Amino acid sequence: MKNLKIAIQKSGRLNEKSVQLLKNCGLDFENYKSSLITIVSNFNLEILFLRDDDIPDYVEQGIADLGIVGENVIDESLAKVDYLQRLGFGKCTLKLAVPKDSNFNDIKDLDGKSIATSYPNILGKFLKDKQISAEIHPISGSVEIAPGLGLSEAICDIVSTGGTLKNNGLKPFADVSTSEAILIGRAGLAENPILCELLQRIQSVLRAKETKYVVLNVEKTNLPQITELLQGVKSPTIVPLAEEGWVAVHTVIPEEDFWGKINTLKSAGAQGIVVMPIEKIIL
Ligand code: ATP
Ligand code: ZN
Repeated sequence: MKNLKIAIQKSGRLNEKSVQLLKNCGLDFENYKSSLITIVSNFNLEILFLRDDDIPDYVEQGIADLGIVGENVIDESLAKVDYLQRLGFGKCTLKLAVPKDSNFNDIKDLDGKSIATSYPNILGKFLKDKQISAEIHPISGSVEIAPGLGLSEAICDIVSTGGTLKNNGLKPFADVSTSEAILIGRAGLAENPILCELLQRIQSVLRAKETKYVVLNVEKTNLPQITELLQGVKSPTIVPLAEEGWVAVHTVIPEEDFWGKINTLKSAGAQGIVVMPIEKIIL
């Protein structure tokens, strides 16, 4: 079978997690920083290491079959590619920001103003939808210094913690869009058996990440209450402990449910609660 090619970021914020995801899928490859391409030894896949901005176009043109890249980069590129799977990392928000002391109260206050951004296409569409006419200054980097230099009155840039904005005397003003890393594919790839296998593996890794394996001890008399609390699990495994009258409950639950329930479980008699990561969940 002919290998598929997947493009991932060569270096930067998405590189490490993209490599880790593929490794967690059981793919065996050398992660040479210096090479453009590496071959997976135990799967029909080759990995191309590229600048993130090039990935959507490479996939659209079929130079790569698949890509892992931020939604912001895909939308800005206007490339026509299929969204195959949201990957849950590289989360960030494209925000409008203005100098701290300016008194913008409403998004309409941007009317007639100038905005510097590396995302002119996304911003242009956003402003059009909101029927705001502002002047867009496309610049390729260090957007946050534009107001200080007198280049623009506002900026539109990627923010995750907001620290860079603050350091440059800016405050976020409105959200334009949110983004995370996405697996994209070229048109017409959907039925490809290599892709189907890869997608299945990726989904089992993602499911496992959101879920924890929990073991807890409880006196038999309290068991009904505990299993009631762990509803939603098809059927927990109950194992007797060496100590008479006690059992261990083994179960798999979404992590977010667990943290909300921990105190209720404890007051219902759960003891020695152990929470473990899961590597894969295959349905
Ligand atoms: P390249 O050299 O590949 O062009 P880059 O400098 O353009 O890299 P990075 O800064 O590595 O890009 O960011 C890659 C992606 O990570 C962004 O496009 C975005 O989707 C995501 N991301 C997550 N958090 C942030 C953040 N705080 N700032 C910028 N990007 C972020
Ligand atoms: Zn880039």
